[in-house]
Amino acid sequence: MFLKILFLIAITALVKSEYVSYKNHKVYKVTPETDKHVEILNDVENEHSYMFWDQGIRKGRNVNVMVAPEKQRAFEKFFSDAGIKAELVIQDFERTAEVQRARPLTRSENIRDYAWDYYMTLEEIYAWMDAVAEDYPDVARVVSIGTTVENRQIKGLVIDHKRVPNATHGIMEGALHAREWITPATLTWIIRDFLESNDPGVRTMAEDIVWHIFPVTNPDGYVYSFTDNRMWRKNRNRANSTSCAQLNVPDDMSNGVDLNRNFDFLWNTVGASLNPCSEVFAGAGGFSELESRAIANYIQQLQSSGSVLYYLGYHSFTQLMLVPYSHTAGADVLEVDNYGDLFEIAVRGMEKLTARHNTPYTVGASADILYPVSGSGFDWAKGGAKIPLVFLFELRDLGEYGFLLPPDQIIPNNEEVMDGLVEMHRIARSMGYYRGSAGVLSNSVLVMIISVVAVLSFK
Ligand SMILES: [Zn+2]
Repeated sequence: MFLKILFLIAITALVKSEYVSYKNHKVYKVTPETDKHVEILNDVENEHSYMFWDQGIRKGRNVNVMVAPEKQRAFEKFFSDAGIKAELVIQDFERTAEVQRARPLTRSENIRDYAWDYYMTLEEIYAWMDAVAEDYPDVARVVSIGTTVENRQIKGLVIDHKRVPNATHGIMEGALHAREWITPATLTWIIRDFLESNDPGVRTMAEDIVWHIFPVTNPDGYVYSFTDNRMWRKNRNRANSTSCAQLNVPDDMSNGVDLNRNFDFLWNTVGASLNPCSEVFAGAGGFSELESRAIANYIQQLQSSGSVLYYLGYHSFTQLMLVPYSHTAGADVLEVDNYGDLFEIAVRGMEKLTARHNTPYTVGASADILYPVSGSGFDWAKGGAKIPLVFLFELRDLGEYGFLLPPDQIIPNNEEVMDGLVEMHRIARSMGYYRGSAGVLSNSVLVMIISVVAVLSFK
């Protein structure tokens, strides 16, 4: 027994790590305006003296850069000398992070009373989902699609209003990237609306489709972003652990895989890395990770007994709606056979989204409006699983708070996203993508049927 305790203490000591503090770290919003600026910024990023919040630097696109206190003077002088705009947006990361973590002073102990006024922990999200399933036993049920390296369940909520055979399914996933806290806060709201809203558009969308909603698809990383490192993005697989001295980043950076680069569709061809110390480490191979494999297995299982019409990924930030594929740009976007439809559905949806709170969103393929990427969940959903309607949200904001989006923006964000979704489903329906529970009829099939009918009636 004594040895056992000693062993446990030793293990705890090994596993226990210090909370990474970014006290007095400043965050700047940097805007490269010329090709030269892009070149300079790429060089700066490659030195790894500062923490870039995002990959892929492109002309006219803001990039958030976090700077440690002792480097701030040099940083400001360098950018001012280079003539590159670097606007201070966060004075002290840790203080802003505290504001984000804050909870209302008077709040109910009952998780059912959650009012989207703070960010829930994983434990709270799971307790909330259990409560929802209990309250709607005929419609909602909790599913677990697998476990993680740290032995946590990957849980989702299935909402099935009609309970008919041969149903049409839809998937929504959030927090594949741990630090993007707004995404579970959006997905829990969507769950609530799909169960409770009386809005006719929401009702149609909720009832047409059997929804499988996974607020946190990277549970280990999500927990770690609360307990250890607010900036954590990847999962917590330590199988590739190594020294990261050569990249000038802490060794802990190698203890995780970027799940949104690990899906086995054009795995590690562009916008990903084989270096475990990279934020976009693609893993040891396509689907090397439990989380990405669990999502893919679940979708394939659904497809074996019904059809999956939607795959919606939720990320943050920069207010974009991405349409697959993420490795194609320009005319090559037409590699996706229904790109035109996807683009139109997205644009019409984002018009409605913007109308709610005047929040602008940009629509397009990642390589055109963000950066080229391969091995992402939503690209696999299109190219691997052949799901007809596939989209990826990059939610609020444009870099003022980034990952530290304050809780008072959760509800406006959720309201506008819901408006956008309802419109997207309305347009998709009008295009013939949803044909009742009998299955999915694609646009081209519809055109074929109309043509045949036309030919027949001319005879
Ligand atoms: Zn993300």
